[in-house]
Amino acid sequence: MMTQTALSSKLEAKLKARFQFKFPKKYKLSFGYLILLIVPFCIAQMLDMDTKTVYAQVLTIINLLAIMAFFIQFPLGSRLKQFPIFTHIDWSVERHKKVGKWLGIVFLFHPILILAPRFLFSYNDGVKSLIEVITAPPMLTGLIAWGVLIAWVCFSVYKNKLPIRYETWRLAHLIGFVAITILATLHITTIGSHGQFQSNFNILWWVLCSFSLAMVVYNYLVKPTRLKRQPFTLNSITKISSHDWQVTIEQKSGANFYFEPGQFVWLNTSKSLHGVSEHPFSIASGKQDLPRLSFIIRELGDYTSSLGNLIEGQAVYIDGPYGSMSLNDSNQSTGIMLIAGGAGLGPILSLLRGLAAQNDTRPIRLLYGNNLLSQMALVDQIKGYETQLSHFKLQLICQEETIDPNQVNQPIYQGIIDKQIIEKNVDLCAINNWSVYLCGPKPMINSVNKSLKELGVKQSHIHYEQLSF
Ligand SMILES: Cc1cc2nc3c(=O)[nH]c(=O)nc-3n(C[C@H](O)[C@H](O)[C@H](O)COP(=O)(O)OP(=O)(O)OC[C@H]3O[C@@H](n4cnc5c(N)ncnc54)[C@H](O)[C@@H]3O)c2cc1C
Repeated sequence: MMTQTALSSKLEAKLKARFQFKFPKKYKLSFGYLILLIVPFCIAQMLDMDTKTVYAQVLTIINLLAIMAFFIQFPLGSRLKQFPIFTHIDWSVERHKKVGKWLGIVFLFHPILILAPRFLFSYNDGVKSLIEVITAPPMLTGLIAWGVLIAWVCFSVYKNKLPIRYETWRLAHLIGFVAITILATLHITTIGSHGQFQSNFNILWWVLCSFSLAMVVYNYLVKPTRLKRQPFTLNSITKISSHDWQVTIEQKSGANFYFEPGQFVWLNTSKSLHGVSEHPFSIASGKQDLPRLSFIIRELGDYTSSLGNLIEGQAVYIDGPYGSMSLNDSNQSTGIMLIAGGAGLGPILSLLRGLAAQNDTRPIRLLYGNNLLSQMALVDQIKGYETQLSHFKLQLICQEETIDPNQVNQPIYQGIIDKQIIEKNVDLCAINNWSVYLCGPKPMINSVNKSLKELGVKQSHIHYEQLSF
Protein backbone atom coordinates (compact mmCIF):
# COMPACT_ATOMS: atom_id res chain seq x y z
CA MET A 1 0.00 0.00 0.00
CA MET A 2 1.25 3.46 -0.85
CA THR A 3 1.80 5.69 2.19
CA GLN A 4 0.34 9.19 2.49
CA THR A 5 3.81 10.78 2.03
CA ALA A 6 4.59 8.69 -1.07
CA LEU A 7 1.23 9.69 -2.55
CA SER A 8 1.72 13.38 -1.88
CA SER A 9 5.26 13.38 -3.25
CA LYS A 10 3.98 11.62 -6.41
CA LEU A 11 1.28 14.28 -6.77
CA GLU A 12 3.87 16.98 -6.14
CA ALA A 13 6.10 15.54 -8.89
CA LYS A 14 3.12 15.42 -11.27
CA LEU A 15 2.19 19.02 -10.56
CA LYS A 16 5.80 20.09 -10.91
CA ALA A 17 6.07 18.35 -14.27
CA ARG A 18 2.85 20.04 -15.39
CA PHE A 19 3.95 23.54 -14.40
CA GLN A 20 7.48 23.02 -15.67
CA PHE A 21 6.07 22.35 -19.13
CA LYS A 22 7.68 24.73 -21.53
CA PHE A 23 6.01 25.89 -24.70
CA PRO A 24 8.19 24.37 -27.48
CA LYS A 25 10.60 26.88 -29.05
CA LYS A 26 9.15 26.58 -32.56
CA TYR A 27 5.60 27.33 -31.34
CA LYS A 28 6.84 30.43 -29.52
CA LEU A 29 8.55 31.61 -32.70
CA SER A 30 5.48 30.89 -34.85
CA PHE A 31 3.30 32.79 -32.36
CA GLY A 32 5.64 35.82 -32.46
CA TYR A 33 5.63 35.67 -36.26
CA LEU A 34 1.81 35.60 -36.43
CA ILE A 35 1.55 38.58 -34.09
CA LEU A 36 3.84 40.61 -36.35
CA LEU A 37 1.89 39.49 -39.39
CA ILE A 38 -1.43 40.93 -38.24
CA VAL A 39 -0.06 44.36 -37.21
CA PRO A 40 -1.15 46.25 -40.40
CA PHE A 41 -4.56 44.55 -40.30
CA CYS A 42 -5.07 45.66 -36.67
CA ILE A 43 -3.98 49.21 -37.51
CA ALA A 44 -6.39 49.26 -40.47
CA GLN A 45 -9.18 48.16 -38.12
CA MET A 46 -8.31 50.94 -35.65
CA LEU A 47 -8.32 53.53 -38.42
CA ASP A 48 -11.71 52.21 -39.46
CA MET A 49 -10.87 51.33 -43.04
CA ASP A 50 -13.99 51.34 -45.15
CA THR A 51 -14.38 48.51 -47.67
CA LYS A 52 -17.35 48.44 -50.00
CA THR A 53 -18.07 44.74 -50.47
CA VAL A 54 -17.33 41.47 -48.67
CA TYR A 55 -15.12 40.47 -51.61
CA ALA A 56 -13.13 43.71 -51.31
CA GLN A 57 -12.86 43.10 -47.56
CA VAL A 58 -11.46 39.59 -48.08
CA LEU A 59 -9.00 40.89 -50.69
CA THR A 60 -7.89 43.65 -48.32
CA ILE A 61 -7.20 41.15 -45.53
CA ILE A 62 -5.22 38.88 -47.91
CA ASN A 63 -3.23 41.84 -49.25
CA LEU A 64 -2.46 43.29 -45.81
CA LEU A 65 -1.22 39.92 -44.55
CA ALA A 66 0.80 39.27 -47.71
CA ILE A 67 2.47 42.70 -47.72
CA MET A 68 3.45 42.35 -44.06
CA ALA A 69 4.73 38.79 -44.71
CA PHE A 70 6.81 40.25 -47.56
CA PHE A 71 8.44 42.84 -45.27
CA ILE A 72 9.13 40.22 -42.56
CA GLN A 73 11.09 38.26 -45.18
CA PHE A 74 13.98 40.72 -44.62
CA PRO A 75 14.60 39.96 -40.92
CA LEU A 76 13.92 36.26 -41.58
CA GLY A 77 16.65 36.21 -44.21
CA SER A 78 19.07 38.35 -42.18
CA ARG A 79 21.30 37.35 -39.31
CA LEU A 80 19.86 39.26 -36.40
CA LYS A 81 20.97 38.29 -32.94
CA GLN A 82 19.36 41.30 -31.29
CA PHE A 83 15.70 40.34 -31.81
CA PRO A 84 14.68 37.08 -30.05
CA ILE A 85 12.22 35.87 -32.69
CA PHE A 86 14.84 36.19 -35.45
CA THR A 87 17.83 34.72 -33.57
CA HIS A 88 17.01 31.11 -34.51
CA ILE A 89 18.49 31.33 -37.93
CA ASP A 90 17.65 27.75 -39.01
CA TRP A 91 13.98 28.34 -38.18
CA SER A 92 14.06 31.79 -39.82
CA VAL A 93 15.66 30.63 -43.07
CA GLU A 94 13.28 27.68 -43.30
CA ARG A 95 10.30 30.11 -42.85
CA HIS A 96 11.89 32.61 -45.29
CA LYS A 97 11.93 29.93 -48.00
CA LYS A 98 8.45 28.54 -47.31
CA VAL A 99 6.77 31.95 -46.97
CA GLY A 100 8.63 33.15 -50.09
CA LYS A 101 7.03 30.41 -52.19
CA TRP A 102 3.54 31.22 -50.84
CA LEU A 103 4.04 34.92 -51.43
CA GLY A 104 4.98 34.18 -55.05
CA ILE A 105 1.63 32.41 -55.49
CA VAL A 106 -0.41 35.07 -53.63
CA PHE A 107 1.13 37.96 -55.58
CA LEU A 108 0.81 36.06 -58.87
CA PHE A 109 -2.96 36.04 -58.28
CA HIS A 110 -3.08 39.62 -56.93
CA PRO A 111 -4.03 41.38 -60.23
CA ILE A 112 -6.18 38.42 -61.30
CA LEU A 113 -8.24 38.57 -58.09
CA ILE A 114 -8.76 42.32 -58.53
CA LEU A 115 -9.77 42.13 -62.20
CA ALA A 116 -11.71 38.82 -62.18
CA PRO A 117 -15.02 40.22 -60.79
CA ARG A 118 -15.05 42.94 -63.46
CA PHE A 119 -14.76 40.25 -66.16
CA LEU A 120 -17.52 38.27 -64.43
CA PHE A 121 -19.93 41.22 -64.48
CA SER A 122 -19.07 42.44 -67.96
CA TYR A 123 -16.43 41.16 -70.34
CA ASN A 124 -16.06 44.63 -71.94
CA ASP A 125 -15.58 46.31 -68.55
CA GLY A 126 -13.01 43.68 -67.70
CA VAL A 127 -11.02 44.29 -70.88
CA LYS A 128 -11.27 48.09 -70.31
CA SER A 129 -9.93 47.72 -66.75
CA LEU A 130 -7.14 45.42 -67.95
CA ILE A 131 -6.02 47.95 -70.57
CA GLU A 132 -6.16 50.74 -67.96
CA VAL A 133 -4.01 48.67 -65.59
CA ILE A 134 -1.41 47.96 -68.23
CA THR A 135 -1.22 51.47 -69.67
CA ALA A 136 -1.78 53.81 -66.68
CA PRO A 137 1.58 55.40 -65.73
CA PRO A 138 0.95 55.19 -61.92
CA MET A 139 0.51 51.41 -62.32
CA LEU A 140 3.99 51.02 -63.79
CA THR A 141 5.70 50.58 -60.38
CA GLY A 142 3.27 47.83 -59.43
CA LEU A 143 3.54 46.08 -62.79
CA ILE A 144 7.35 46.01 -62.69
CA ALA A 145 7.40 44.92 -59.03
CA TRP A 146 4.88 42.17 -59.82
CA GLY A 147 6.80 40.82 -62.84
CA VAL A 148 10.21 40.92 -61.13
CA LEU A 149 8.82 39.36 -57.93
CA ILE A 150 7.33 36.36 -59.77
CA ALA A 151 10.58 35.91 -61.75
CA TRP A 152 12.77 36.24 -58.63
CA VAL A 153 10.70 33.78 -56.60
CA CYS A 154 11.06 31.22 -59.43
CA PHE A 155 14.78 32.06 -59.63
CA SER A 156 15.12 31.18 -55.92
CA VAL A 157 12.97 28.06 -55.98
CA TYR A 158 14.92 26.61 -58.93
CA LYS A 159 18.37 28.03 -58.07
CA ASN A 160 19.97 24.60 -57.66
CA LYS A 161 18.83 23.59 -61.13
CA LEU A 162 20.27 26.70 -62.82
CA PRO A 163 23.87 26.78 -64.08
CA ILE A 164 24.89 29.75 -61.91
CA ARG A 165 27.24 30.11 -58.93
CA TYR A 166 25.62 30.37 -55.50
CA GLU A 167 27.31 33.75 -54.97
CA THR A 168 25.87 35.13 -58.25
CA TRP A 169 22.41 33.97 -57.24
CA ARG A 170 22.75 35.58 -53.79
CA LEU A 171 23.82 38.94 -55.20
CA ALA A 172 21.00 38.91 -57.78
CA HIS A 173 18.51 37.87 -55.06
CA LEU A 174 19.57 40.80 -52.89
CA ILE A 175 19.54 43.48 -55.61
CA GLY A 176 16.26 42.17 -57.07
CA PHE A 177 14.39 42.23 -53.77
CA VAL A 178 15.69 45.67 -52.81
CA ALA A 179 14.28 46.96 -56.14
CA ILE A 180 11.00 45.06 -55.64
CA THR A 181 10.62 46.51 -52.11
CA ILE A 182 11.00 50.12 -53.27
CA LEU A 183 8.70 49.66 -56.28
CA ALA A 184 6.10 47.73 -54.28
CA THR A 185 6.03 50.39 -51.53
CA LEU A 186 5.51 53.10 -54.17
CA HIS A 187 2.66 51.01 -55.60
CA ILE A 188 1.04 50.34 -52.22
CA THR A 189 1.16 53.98 -51.16
CA THR A 190 -0.15 55.41 -54.42
CA ILE A 191 -2.57 52.80 -55.78
CA GLY A 192 -5.08 50.52 -54.13
CA SER A 193 -7.49 50.80 -51.25
CA HIS A 194 -5.05 50.22 -48.40
CA GLY A 195 -2.67 52.86 -49.79
CA GLN A 196 -5.19 55.59 -50.36
CA PHE A 197 -7.71 55.42 -47.58
CA GLN A 198 -5.62 57.37 -45.06
CA SER A 199 -2.31 59.08 -45.65
CA ASN A 200 -1.29 58.19 -42.06
CA PHE A 201 -1.56 54.51 -42.95
CA ASN A 202 1.11 55.00 -45.63
CA ILE A 203 3.60 55.95 -42.93
CA LEU A 204 3.49 52.31 -41.82
CA TRP A 205 4.53 51.08 -45.29
CA TRP A 206 7.36 53.56 -45.58
CA VAL A 207 8.60 52.68 -42.08
CA LEU A 208 8.57 48.97 -43.00
CA CYS A 209 10.31 49.67 -46.32
CA SER A 210 12.99 51.75 -44.53
CA PHE A 211 13.54 49.01 -41.92
CA SER A 212 13.93 46.41 -44.65
CA LEU A 213 16.49 48.48 -46.52
CA ALA A 214 18.28 49.37 -43.26
CA MET A 215 18.68 45.64 -42.62
CA VAL A 216 20.43 45.21 -45.96
CA VAL A 217 22.74 48.15 -45.19
CA TYR A 218 23.45 46.68 -41.74
CA ASN A 219 24.24 43.19 -43.07
CA TYR A 220 26.35 44.22 -46.05
CA LEU A 221 28.04 47.44 -44.84
CA VAL A 222 27.88 47.97 -41.08
CA LYS A 223 28.42 44.40 -39.88
CA PRO A 224 31.40 43.63 -42.20
CA THR A 225 33.14 46.81 -41.02
CA ARG A 226 32.68 45.65 -37.41
CA LEU A 227 33.93 42.13 -38.21
CA LYS A 228 37.04 43.58 -39.86
CA ARG A 229 38.05 44.92 -36.45
CA GLN A 230 37.96 41.37 -34.96
CA PRO A 231 40.07 39.26 -37.33
CA PHE A 232 41.12 35.65 -36.79
CA THR A 233 44.32 34.11 -38.19
CA LEU A 234 44.44 30.91 -40.21
CA ASN A 235 46.51 28.58 -38.06
CA SER A 236 46.53 25.42 -40.13
CA ILE A 237 44.78 23.67 -42.95
CA THR A 238 45.17 19.90 -43.23
CA LYS A 239 43.66 17.22 -45.46
CA ILE A 240 42.05 14.66 -43.10
CA SER A 241 40.32 12.36 -45.60
CA SER A 242 40.03 11.99 -49.36
CA HIS A 243 37.39 14.78 -49.39
CA ASP A 244 37.71 16.68 -46.08
CA TRP A 245 39.89 19.47 -44.75
CA GLN A 246 40.43 20.49 -41.17
CA VAL A 247 40.73 24.26 -40.95
CA THR A 248 41.91 25.78 -37.67
CA ILE A 249 41.78 29.48 -36.95
CA GLU A 250 42.75 31.49 -33.90
CA GLN A 251 41.34 34.68 -32.55
CA LYS A 252 43.75 37.54 -32.20
CA SER A 253 43.94 38.96 -28.71
CA GLY A 254 41.35 41.41 -27.45
CA ALA A 255 38.09 40.00 -28.73
CA ASN A 256 35.97 37.49 -26.86
CA PHE A 257 34.29 34.96 -29.10
CA TYR A 258 31.97 32.50 -27.37
CA PHE A 259 29.90 29.60 -28.74
CA GLU A 260 27.96 26.47 -27.77
CA PRO A 261 28.88 23.08 -29.28
CA GLY A 262 26.61 22.45 -32.28
CA GLN A 263 26.66 26.06 -33.52
CA PHE A 264 28.00 27.39 -36.80
CA VAL A 265 29.51 30.59 -38.21
CA TRP A 266 29.84 32.30 -41.57
CA LEU A 267 33.49 32.03 -42.52
CA ASN A 268 35.05 34.59 -44.83
CA THR A 269 38.57 33.97 -46.09
CA SER A 270 38.46 36.59 -48.86
CA LYS A 271 39.91 40.09 -48.73
CA SER A 272 36.59 41.81 -49.36
CA LEU A 273 34.14 41.63 -46.50
CA HIS A 274 31.38 43.60 -48.18
CA GLY A 275 30.52 41.00 -50.80
CA VAL A 276 28.80 37.63 -50.71
CA SER A 277 31.91 35.44 -50.44
CA GLU A 278 31.25 33.92 -47.02
CA HIS A 279 30.14 30.35 -46.29
CA PRO A 280 28.42 28.72 -43.31
CA PHE A 281 30.45 26.05 -41.48
CA SER A 282 29.84 24.34 -38.16
CA ILE A 283 32.40 24.57 -35.40
CA ALA A 284 34.05 21.19 -34.83
CA SER A 285 36.24 22.13 -31.85
CA GLY A 286 35.20 22.31 -28.21
CA LYS A 287 34.81 25.37 -25.98
CA GLN A 288 37.98 24.30 -24.13
CA ASP A 289 39.96 24.84 -27.40
CA LEU A 290 39.18 28.58 -27.53
CA PRO A 291 40.63 30.95 -28.72
CA ARG A 292 41.15 28.33 -31.44
CA LEU A 293 38.25 27.16 -33.57
CA SER A 294 38.37 24.30 -36.02
CA PHE A 295 36.11 23.25 -38.85
CA ILE A 296 35.78 20.06 -40.89
CA ILE A 297 35.05 21.08 -44.44
CA ARG A 298 34.09 18.76 -47.28
CA GLU A 299 35.00 19.58 -50.87
CA LEU A 300 31.77 20.24 -52.72
CA GLY A 301 31.86 23.22 -55.08
CA ASP A 302 34.13 26.02 -56.22
CA TYR A 303 34.98 27.50 -52.79
CA THR A 304 35.44 24.29 -50.79
CA SER A 305 37.49 22.72 -53.61
CA SER A 306 39.97 25.60 -53.53
CA LEU A 307 40.64 25.51 -49.76
CA GLY A 308 44.16 24.25 -50.49
CA ASN A 309 44.99 27.76 -51.80
CA LEU A 310 44.55 29.35 -48.36
CA ILE A 311 47.77 30.56 -46.77
CA GLU A 312 48.58 29.86 -43.12
CA GLY A 313 48.83 33.13 -41.21
CA GLN A 314 46.32 34.98 -43.42
CA ALA A 315 43.44 36.89 -41.83
CA VAL A 316 39.98 35.31 -41.80
CA TYR A 317 36.71 36.72 -40.51
CA ILE A 318 33.75 35.06 -38.90
CA ASP A 319 30.19 36.13 -38.31
CA GLY A 320 28.48 34.16 -35.58
CA PRO A 321 27.87 31.98 -33.74
CA TYR A 322 24.43 30.99 -35.00
CA GLY A 323 22.24 27.90 -34.69
CA SER A 324 20.15 26.54 -31.88
CA MET A 325 21.48 22.97 -31.52
CA SER A 326 22.71 22.75 -27.94
CA LEU A 327 23.71 20.15 -25.33
CA ASN A 328 21.38 21.92 -22.88
CA ASP A 329 18.44 20.42 -24.80
CA SER A 330 19.40 16.94 -23.57
CA ASN A 331 20.12 17.69 -19.88
CA GLN A 332 17.22 15.46 -18.81
CA SER A 333 17.96 12.59 -21.24
CA THR A 334 19.28 9.25 -20.04
CA GLY A 335 21.31 8.56 -23.20
CA ILE A 336 22.64 10.42 -26.22
CA MET A 337 22.89 9.34 -29.81
CA LEU A 338 25.05 11.40 -32.17
CA ILE A 339 24.56 10.77 -35.89
CA ALA A 340 26.86 12.30 -38.51
CA GLY A 341 26.69 11.93 -42.27
CA GLY A 342 29.76 13.08 -44.24
CA ALA A 343 30.47 16.77 -43.58
CA GLY A 344 28.04 16.58 -40.65
CA LEU A 345 30.90 15.27 -38.53
CA GLY A 346 31.96 18.83 -37.55
CA PRO A 347 29.13 19.86 -35.17
CA ILE A 348 28.72 16.28 -33.92
CA LEU A 349 32.39 16.19 -32.95
CA SER A 350 31.99 19.51 -31.15
CA LEU A 351 29.05 18.04 -29.18
CA LEU A 352 31.13 14.93 -28.36
CA ARG A 353 33.98 17.15 -27.19
CA GLY A 354 31.49 19.07 -25.04
CA LEU A 355 30.22 15.82 -23.47
CA ALA A 356 33.81 14.67 -22.85
CA ALA A 357 34.68 18.00 -21.23
CA GLN A 358 31.86 17.51 -18.72
CA ASN A 359 32.86 13.82 -18.15
CA ASP A 360 29.37 12.71 -19.10
CA THR A 361 28.59 9.24 -17.74
CA ARG A 362 25.46 8.55 -19.77
CA PRO A 363 25.52 6.02 -22.65
CA ILE A 364 26.69 7.92 -25.73
CA ARG A 365 26.71 6.48 -29.26
CA LEU A 366 28.18 8.03 -32.39
CA LEU A 367 27.03 6.72 -35.76
CA TYR A 368 29.29 8.13 -38.48
CA GLY A 369 28.42 7.36 -42.09
CA ASN A 370 30.10 8.02 -45.42
CA ASN A 371 29.71 6.82 -48.99
CA LEU A 372 33.38 5.80 -49.22
CA LEU A 373 35.78 4.42 -46.65
CA SER A 374 38.40 6.93 -47.76
CA GLN A 375 36.01 9.72 -46.62
CA MET A 376 36.17 8.64 -42.95
CA ALA A 377 37.92 11.46 -41.06
CA LEU A 378 39.62 11.53 -37.63
CA VAL A 379 38.53 7.96 -36.80
CA ASP A 380 41.45 7.30 -34.39
CA GLN A 381 40.80 10.57 -32.58
CA ILE A 382 37.08 9.79 -32.18
CA LYS A 383 37.85 6.22 -31.10
CA GLY A 384 40.09 7.72 -28.40
CA TYR A 385 36.95 9.00 -26.64
CA GLU A 386 35.96 5.36 -25.94
CA THR A 387 38.66 5.30 -23.26
CA GLN A 388 37.88 8.80 -21.98
CA LEU A 389 34.10 8.45 -21.75
CA SER A 390 32.98 5.36 -19.83
CA HIS A 391 29.90 4.61 -21.96
CA PHE A 392 30.85 5.90 -25.40
CA LYS A 393 30.87 3.76 -28.54
CA LEU A 394 31.63 4.60 -32.15
CA GLN A 395 29.94 2.85 -35.06
CA LEU A 396 31.15 3.47 -38.61
CA ILE A 397 28.78 3.02 -41.53
CA CYS A 398 29.91 2.90 -45.13
CA GLN A 399 28.07 2.40 -48.38
CA GLU A 400 31.03 0.95 -50.28
CA GLU A 401 30.47 -2.71 -51.04
CA THR A 402 34.02 -4.03 -50.72
CA ILE A 403 35.29 -2.62 -47.46
CA ASP A 404 38.34 -3.66 -45.52
CA PRO A 405 37.70 -3.00 -41.80
CA ASN A 406 41.43 -3.28 -41.15
CA GLN A 407 41.85 -0.03 -43.04
CA VAL A 408 40.25 1.85 -40.13
CA ASN A 409 40.77 -0.78 -37.44
CA GLN A 410 37.09 -0.66 -36.50
CA PRO A 411 34.00 -2.76 -37.30
CA ILE A 412 31.98 -1.21 -40.11
CA TYR A 413 28.30 -1.58 -40.96
CA GLN A 414 27.89 -1.83 -44.71
CA GLY A 415 25.04 0.30 -46.00
CA ILE A 416 23.47 3.61 -45.03
CA ILE A 417 22.45 4.94 -41.59
CA ASP A 418 19.18 3.03 -41.39
CA LYS A 419 16.71 1.83 -38.78
CA GLN A 420 18.58 -1.45 -38.32
CA ILE A 421 21.90 0.10 -37.31
CA ILE A 422 20.22 2.68 -35.06
CA GLU A 423 18.27 -0.10 -33.36
CA LYS A 424 21.50 -2.05 -32.76
CA ASN A 425 23.11 0.90 -31.01
CA VAL A 426 20.35 2.04 -28.71
CA ASP A 427 18.63 0.58 -25.68
CA LEU A 428 15.12 0.23 -27.16
CA CYS A 429 13.46 0.08 -23.71
CA ALA A 430 14.91 3.48 -22.80
CA ILE A 431 14.64 5.15 -26.21
CA ASN A 432 11.87 7.43 -24.94
CA ASN A 433 14.40 9.18 -22.75
CA TRP A 434 17.25 9.42 -25.24
CA SER A 435 18.16 12.53 -27.18
CA VAL A 436 19.42 12.38 -30.75
CA TYR A 437 21.67 14.94 -32.46
CA LEU A 438 21.73 14.60 -36.19
CA CYS A 439 23.80 16.38 -38.82
CA GLY A 440 24.36 15.79 -42.51
CA PRO A 441 22.91 16.40 -45.96
CA LYS A 442 19.15 16.95 -46.26
CA PRO A 443 18.20 13.51 -47.76
CA MET A 444 20.07 11.76 -44.93
CA ILE A 445 18.36 13.94 -42.29
CA ASN A 446 14.94 13.11 -43.75
CA SER A 447 15.52 9.35 -43.89
CA VAL A 448 17.13 9.11 -40.41
CA ASN A 449 14.35 11.28 -38.93
CA LYS A 450 11.82 8.81 -40.35
CA SER A 451 13.67 5.81 -38.84
CA LEU A 452 13.94 7.54 -35.46
CA LYS A 453 10.21 8.25 -35.39
CA GLU A 454 9.44 4.63 -36.29
CA LEU A 455 11.65 3.53 -33.39
CA GLY A 456 9.69 5.73 -31.01
CA VAL A 457 12.10 8.62 -30.45
CA LYS A 458 10.07 11.67 -29.49
CA GLN A 459 10.16 14.48 -32.08
CA SER A 460 11.11 16.97 -29.36
CA HIS A 461 14.18 14.81 -28.57
CA ILE A 462 15.55 14.99 -32.12
CA HIS A 463 17.87 17.95 -32.76
CA TYR A 464 19.28 18.36 -36.21
CA GLU A 465 21.26 20.61 -38.53
CA GLN A 466 21.05 20.05 -42.26
CA LEU A 467 24.01 21.43 -44.12
CA SER A 468 22.05 23.62 -46.51
CA PHE A 469 19.62 26.48 -46.38
C1 LIG B 1 24.26 25.76 -41.10
C2 LIG B 1 25.25 25.12 -42.04
C3 LIG B 1 26.39 24.51 -41.54
C4 LIG B 1 27.30 23.91 -42.39
N1 LIG B 1 28.40 23.28 -41.88
C5 LIG B 1 29.28 22.67 -42.71
C6 LIG B 1 30.43 22.00 -42.19
O1 LIG B 1 30.69 21.96 -40.99
N2 LIG B 1 31.26 21.40 -43.09
C7 LIG B 1 31.02 21.41 -44.44
O2 LIG B 1 31.81 20.85 -45.19
N3 LIG B 1 29.94 22.05 -44.94
C8 LIG B 1 29.07 22.68 -44.13
N4 LIG B 1 27.98 23.34 -44.65
C9 LIG B 1 27.80 23.36 -46.12
C10 LIG B 1 28.71 24.42 -46.73
O3 LIG B 1 28.29 25.71 -46.35
C11 LIG B 1 28.69 24.32 -48.25
O4 LIG B 1 29.12 23.04 -48.62
C12 LIG B 1 29.61 25.32 -48.89
O5 LIG B 1 29.17 26.63 -48.63
C13 LIG B 1 29.66 25.05 -50.38
O6 LIG B 1 30.34 26.12 -51.02
P1 LIG B 1 31.02 25.87 -52.43
O7 LIG B 1 31.29 27.19 -53.09
O8 LIG B 1 32.19 24.96 -52.31
O9 LIG B 1 29.94 25.05 -53.25
P2 LIG B 1 28.78 25.58 -54.18
O10 LIG B 1 28.69 24.64 -55.33
O11 LIG B 1 28.90 27.04 -54.46
O12 LIG B 1 27.52 25.40 -53.25
C14 LIG B 1 26.94 24.16 -53.01
C15 LIG B 1 25.73 24.39 -52.12
O13 LIG B 1 26.17 24.87 -50.85
C16 LIG B 1 25.29 25.90 -50.37
N5 LIG B 1 26.04 27.17 -50.25
C17 LIG B 1 27.07 27.57 -51.00
N6 LIG B 1 27.51 28.77 -50.59
C18 LIG B 1 26.72 29.13 -49.56
C19 LIG B 1 26.63 30.28 -48.74
N7 LIG B 1 27.47 31.30 -48.89
N8 LIG B 1 25.67 30.32 -47.81
C20 LIG B 1 24.79 29.30 -47.65
N9 LIG B 1 24.82 28.19 -48.39
C21 LIG B 1 25.76 28.10 -49.34
C22 LIG B 1 24.18 26.05 -51.39
O14 LIG B 1 23.10 25.21 -51.00
C23 LIG B 1 24.78 25.50 -52.65
O15 LIG B 1 23.82 24.97 -53.52
C24 LIG B 1 27.07 23.95 -43.81
C25 LIG B 1 25.94 24.58 -44.30
C26 LIG B 1 25.04 25.15 -43.44
C27 LIG B 1 23.82 25.83 -43.99
